[in-house]
Amino acid sequence: MKEADIRPAELFEKYLELSAADALTYFSSAKREPLPCPACASRDIRPAFVKHGFGYVLCGSCYTLYQSPRPSPADFARFYQESPSARYWACTFFPAVAEARQVHLIRPKVQELAQLCQQDQFSPRVFADIGAGAGFFLEEWRRNFPETQTIALEPNPDLADQCRSKGLTVMECFLEEAESLKGQADLVTAFEVIEHVHDPLTFCASLGKLLKPGGRVLLTGLTVDGFDLQVLWEKSNSISPPHHINFMSIKGFESLLCRAGFNNIRIFTPGKLDVDIVRNAAAARAEALAGQGFVQMLLRRGEETLEAFQQFLNEHQLSSHCWVWASKSP
Ligand SMILES: [Zn+2]
Repeated sequence: MKEADIRPAELFEKYLELSAADALTYFSSAKREPLPCPACASRDIRPAFVKHGFGYVLCGSCYTLYQSPRPSPADFARFYQESPSARYWACTFFPAVAEARQVHLIRPKVQELAQLCQQDQFSPRVFADIGAGAGFFLEEWRRNFPETQTIALEPNPDLADQCRSKGLTVMECFLEEAESLKGQADLVTAFEVIEHVHDPLTFCASLGKLLKPGGRVLLTGLTVDGFDLQVLWEKSNSISPPHHINFMSIKGFESLLCRAGFNNIRIFTPGKLDVDIVRNAAAARAEALAGQGFVQMLLRRGEETLEAFQQFLNEHQLSSHCWVWASKSP
């Protein structure tokens, strides 16, 4: 898999342009509050950079990178409901790459999640996917494990309709509103949601409330400890405010899940794209790797070295694509 398979450059560039414009349209007059670290709650904070008018800071304790001072939840809700970049993502970008993502991402992810369950001798009877989008993951899970009762939690009406058209059980609401699901689920997943949420601790605690004791959670998302984020830093396309506002470190994810009432926390970085993302960024803008002699030299090496390097990143929690697997504390 290459970055271009799941993020075709032309479509992605348009999305980034719209996001940058929305950052001004929706937030230029927003009130902003400084936040302690959303992962570990530390107040030892260092400024990192400003991008599209959004400040980012680094936690001095767990090294999580996050957006602060932060506009209000109401400002973000309006942005997600009506902004051109959010609509472009749901209606143009995502449909264009849906099939490629099904092949390259979703099918392998279903197998990897099934393996995690098997290793824990854990067979979920009730499985809720939070922010289920168009329901591709649950559809694929059901194809493999038809005996599981699957529930798609999706607040966006268009996406909720797409889930229904696949025959999925849908709760069209936000996580905090899912009263009837409390204490009912064996397994809860949230794919690529954590980097968007305003209050990650409340979000994770709400995930826990849906679970039966001993239930499992899987969060996937971006970690700032990953190679492409560390190398590209504020030039990374993944740092695209107002969309991505939390980049937990590995240590930050551990603190966050522990504070939210989870134990047996295991973190993997199975990402495959770090090296390709850095190479593409350098090809688009030579200055993206200014002063990074080692990385420039690395990229001149052959494919075999680069593949081995990517493998090393995966095995040592150094890729930016991260999986967090944990149990609800009894
Ligand atoms: Zn922290």
